[in-house]
Amino acid sequence: MGTLRRSRGRSWLRLSMAGALAALAAAAHPALQPAPPPPPPLLEIEWEPTRPAEGSLFRLRVAPRAVAPGENPEGGDGNRAELVALTGEVGQLPLAFHRSGAWHESLAAIPVDAPDTVLAWVRGEFADGRARSLSVWIPVEPVVYDHERLAVAPRFGSPLGDADRARLDRNIEMAAQVSRDALADPPLWSSGVVMPRSARITSRFGTGREFNGQVTSRHMGLDLQGAVGDTVVAAAHGVVALVEPFLLAGNVVYLNHGGGLVTGYFHLSAQLVQVGDTVVAGMPIGRVGSTGRVTGPHLHWVVRFGATSVDPLSLVALLPGAGPS
Ligand SMILES: [Zn+2]
Repeated sequence: MGTLRRSRGRSWLRLSMAGALAALAAAAHPALQPAPPPPPPLLEIEWEPTRPAEGSLFRLRVAPRAVAPGENPEGGDGNRAELVALTGEVGQLPLAFHRSGAWHESLAAIPVDAPDTVLAWVRGEFADGRARSLSVWIPVEPVVYDHERLAVAPRFGSPLGDADRARLDRNIEMAAQVSRDALADPPLWSSGVVMPRSARITSRFGTGREFNGQVTSRHMGLDLQGAVGDTVVAAAHGVVALVEPFLLAGNVVYLNHGGGLVTGYFHLSAQLVQVGDTVVAGMPIGRVGSTGRVTGPHLHWVVRFGATSVDPLSLVALLPGAGPS
């Protein structure tokens, strides 16, 4: 894990000295204000992997920093302080903290095409109402993506008509709502993640794509081989958030796993679940198909933290599960 402890030793000692002098002054002159309370504890932040890759998911955690012996001679309560609220961002994208033992933990995403470092900041509030902020630069591992050309139906290779554009906008907004809900909901994915199919990868995340030589885009999911009718399972514990026919993605199932985590399963020939159903890792949720913008049947698997798409393999690496796949 990467670790950064904000080094505030000197200013802390200065504050303590000032407090001690104020206490002496107050003792000599009872009319003066009593010494101010000791400063609130510091925050400690860690993340893994130490250098997350562009387009990947990683994990970040924050705790009140244990105060070293002698560091706070006025008897501060740093070791026992409780954070009552914790917010933060990585690369201006919101985090979703939950309690994990002594730590507060959140998944986080490095977007594709991210710079070589991203800024993370957190703000913690203690029970007495005081707060601490901390910001750190997280180094990003660059990724070199593949490039491929595809030939598809002309309807999709050229710019969309008004009706299709409006439908696509509605699809995008529905998916965005799932992302917002996931950031607000508690995490359900603690038992780990499985691949939605045990099948060959036919196109990796991030691959640059050209459709009929006209539209260039990046492949924001992972393609898994399959024939029409093959089973697709839920990657993790979650709640079914969308069961829809989308314009480009075809028949989709979206799962809200809470803690900011969303998975999507595209181009299905059949959707086996309903909105509101609770699923667990390995449970069948659909069947492979070729609906939407595709060249043939396969599963396009999407993983997002909030609204940021990441390489699904980075999720499996971060939260490996023991269930069937
Ligand atoms: Zn795909």
